Amino acid sequence: MNGHGGGVSSGSGDVEEKHVSTGSKAAEEKHVSSESKAVEEKYMSTESKAAEEGRDHDVLLAAVWPVTEWYRENKRDLPWRKQTDAYHIWVSEIMLQQTRVEAVKSYYARFLEALPNVKALAEVDEDRLLKLWEGLGYYNRVRNMQKAARQVMDVHHGEFPRTYEEIRALAGIGNYTAGAVASFAFGIPKPAVDGNVLRVVSRLLCSDEDIMKAGVRQRFEREIEAVIPSEAASDFNQGLIELGALVCVPNGAPKCGECPLGGTCLAREKGCQEKLPVKKKAKERRIEKRTVFIFRDGHAVAIKKRPEKGLLAGLYELPNISGHLDGEEAIAYSKSIGLTPVRVKVLGAAKHVFSHVEWHMIGYEMLVDELEKNCSDRMIFAEDGELEGKYPIPTAFSAYADLAKGNGRGR
Ligand code: SF4
Repeated sequence: MNGHGGGVSSGSGDVEEKHVSTGSKAAEEKHVSSESKAVEEKYMSTESKAAEEGRDHDVLLAAVWPVTEWYRENKRDLPWRKQTDAYHIWVSEIMLQQTRVEAVKSYYARFLEALPNVKALAEVDEDRLLKLWEGLGYYNRVRNMQKAARQVMDVHHGEFPRTYEEIRALAGIGNYTAGAVASFAFGIPKPAVDGNVLRVVSRLLCSDEDIMKAGVRQRFEREIEAVIPSEAASDFNQGLIELGALVCVPNGAPKCGECPLGGTCLAREKGCQEKLPVKKKAKERRIEKRTVFIFRDGHAVAIKKRPEKGLLAGLYELPNISGHLDGEEAIAYSKSIGLTPVRVKVLGAAKHVFSHVEWHMIGYEMLVDELEKNCSDRMIFAEDGELEGKYPIPTAFSAYADLAKGNGRGR
């Protein structure tokens, strides 16, 4: 019994053991083989990644002197390139992030004439500062410039800091601006990667990665930093930017025939330069309808101060409300704030595009009696000339503000 039982038991144990053993061996083999495949794949991907990075490094390294020399021969003669003062470079760089080079020229001259140094910027009254920025948009940028100027006065005793890290630590200064000021003013070999550089490098390396991703920008920054020549950091960085602005242009065919990198550019070699860079589509903007009013009497025009936070914070605006009001609704609104119009003029439509929202505006000009005395809403009554000289009205309202300016008299 024991024997049989033992035999059965033993046999069954053998079978079981054998089964277990076969199963575990198969599993083990399978495990070993998938593990080795994973290791192999990992090894291969590390290897191909390393090869790719090595190739990118070589292509960028080969671009250094052609770009630098091309820049020295072809750079545009721009006011902020005539000197290497960090304050001047900083002002120009922030303005260039707002608008076109041609438009920046007059803003730059006007700003520096009014605020010739960091101390003047740190001390200027906010309304005057915003007035100097009027038309450039993104007013928070200039507010941050004032904060940074105050940091320079307080922390650096009025001397613009001379290291990348200290410049990067100033309010409103990100990697690009810090790299631009550090390299253009002090020759520090740090990258300055803006949209132009992202486009050039993306094509040069034939990279199909989305340049809107922070990780891609950071990788480009690292790769550029590894090749910046310490004896020509400024000209190399500015060369990449200038090349993007003049030759490796966006929206259409880059001028590869004129490019100093034509012989080494991987996108040109593969014929895919017009498909690059890959840039994910921006989110669709929200549309907001607004009705804008010019309330005036014989002496003044009504304006309001916007809240200290949010869109166009702290700036002045013509009174406006949400929605498109017809003539009757506009008159009813006017009366609701104590203003009975003696004459109403329908103004044309206007549109202003912000980064996330579009304002679609219509307007009315209302002539009223004794604006200040009758108006029950909290408003400011700007006298002749004050809209030009005193109150910064954002560009969003320019279609109507231009009509309101200088017209307070006798209409
Ligand atoms: S060869 Fe063409 S695509 Fe390549 S960097 Fe020059 S302009 Fe851009």
